[in-house]
Amino acid sequence: MDDVRRRLDQDLNTAASRLRQLGWAVAVDGLSGAIGENCPFADELDGIQASESREIGFATRELLLERVNRLSVALDRLDEGQYGGCVECGEPISPARLRAVPEVQACVRCQDRLERLGPSRSWTRAMSSDDGQSE
Ligand SMILES: [Zn+2]
Repeated sequence: MDDVRRRLDQDLNTAASRLRQLGWAVAVDGLSGAIGENCPFADELDGIQASESREIGFATRELLLERVNRLSVALDRLDEGQYGGCVECGEPISPARLRAVPEVQACVRCQDRLERLGPSRSWTRAMSSDDGQSE
């Protein structure tokens, strides 16, 4: 579980610092290139960076803000020993899913259901595809 905490911390710091940069100067070109290089999770960020280069700005900031929030919640849940359980049904979330999205709070089935309830809940899909940008 220490690995998880480290990863959540790291992701949180990365997301928060990017958010700060984007917050002050949204239209900074080349920002995405400066970030991925030293980041151990660069492959995971590739999708975000690809869309950033086309459409850096509000959507990215929203995405990062959501992620920061989720990561903070995940760290809280880790402290409480709740981490890794689905907030909806209480079933354990699969380790593969947690590795892909460490801040995830719902299992695949529940996430799927939540996403159908509204676009604002579709953050996990936005992290892994371009679908979140289309609104
Ligand atoms: Zn569930």
